[in-house]
Amino acid sequence: MKRAAEPTESQSDPLQERDARLRAVLNTAVDGIITIESDGSIESFNPAAERIFGYSAEEVMGRNVAVLMPPPHREQHGNYIDNYLRTGDTKIIGRGREVTGRRKGGGLFPMELAISEVQLTDRVMFTGIVRDISTRRRAELEARRNLNEHAHASRLAVLGEMVSGIAHELNQPLAAIVSFADACQRILGSGQHDLTLLQDALQQISEQGRRAGSIVNQLKDFVKKREATRSAIDINDIMRNVLDILRYEIRNNDIKTSVDFASDLPKLRADRVQIEQVLLNLVQNAIDAMAGRETRVVSLYTQLDAENVTVTVSDTGPGFGSDISEQMFDAFFTTKTKGTGLGLSISRSIIEAHGGALIARQQTEGGAVFKFTLPLGDGGDGD
Ligand code: ADP
Repeated sequence: MKRAAEPTESQSDPLQERDARLRAVLNTAVDGIITIESDGSIESFNPAAERIFGYSAEEVMGRNVAVLMPPPHREQHGNYIDNYLRTGDTKIIGRGREVTGRRKGGGLFPMELAISEVQLTDRVMFTGIVRDISTRRRAELEARRNLNEHAHASRLAVLGEMVSGIAHELNQPLAAIVSFADACQRILGSGQHDLTLLQDALQQISEQGRRAGSIVNQLKDFVKKREATRSAIDINDIMRNVLDILRYEIRNNDIKTSVDFASDLPKLRADRVQIEQVLLNLVQNAIDAMAGRETRVVSLYTQLDAENVTVTVSDTGPGFGSDISEQMFDAFFTTKTKGTGLGLSISRSIIEAHGGALIARQQTEGGAVFKFTLPLGDGGDGD
């Protein structure tokens, strides 16, 4: 009994035992654990820290922890600690955050760092827990790149459809340019130089040329691999712009326009070129539909509700049969001899990609109504 009560050689000192246990934890931890003195000198450096930074514990022991950091933190680290000890004001102590580490060879890597303060009887020390997150970062980057590639691929698929639509849209201004140029030649050849006629024809040529240019620009914009195309847009502005682009068609076809734009519209985050393209399609369709009709009025209005801005384009054309009200949105569905049947299908996908909806309905008194919504979102004032 006596012997059992006495300490024996095999029974270890509890302090030593705790130390051994602590060391085992430090040695097997997956995270790098580094302790430093208040002057920044490294006091311990566990095996995981050796693996992460590429230094052996002997190499860094006693050196300033700044050796593990890239500039400018490297130069400023002493100031960080001094400042903390003086003011208690902390940028990193007590919180975890993501910083850049520097390996022995000079390579930089992203790491998560949590620092805590250890108050000993005679001094303060700091413990830093370091996790190398470069693999995770690489995977995230790769996933983002894949997503981007995927988005690009699907844009290219849509592009195939768009090319034939754009070829068709380009043909219109080009044909107009040719016929106005022919008209100029005839006027000049006739010997009766009607300057007003000539001026008007030349103006048409330059307008149509500009329109063709804007179509080509839309195509270039579309093909460009853009990360973000959204900017803060004023939808009423876009409507006015579209009417301006189409003013010759509107005048030549003797069409009246009626506009009613809500005055309190917030800006929306949207792709200006695409929304303009949708409106151009809708108004051009309205103009086409009213050819040969007695009353030719295209009405445009914008409206605001709690969640959306609604844009309406209506006309006094013949409208469409209920049997084709959904078919109209299918790619290549057209009732026009020179139609491509792409306008509405592309317009719908553009609006849906903006989180809105594009629908068509028949007016009771005849004529078609196309409505699309764009969600208010956070608007934003970026550009
Ligand atoms: P496209 O104009 O090349 O035919 P769209 O996708 O723009 O292609 O339109 C598909 C079809 O939808 C048109 O051919 C037409 O039959 C019908 N449509 C579109 N807009 C109107 C409208 N405002 N009034 C009557 N029918 C329309």
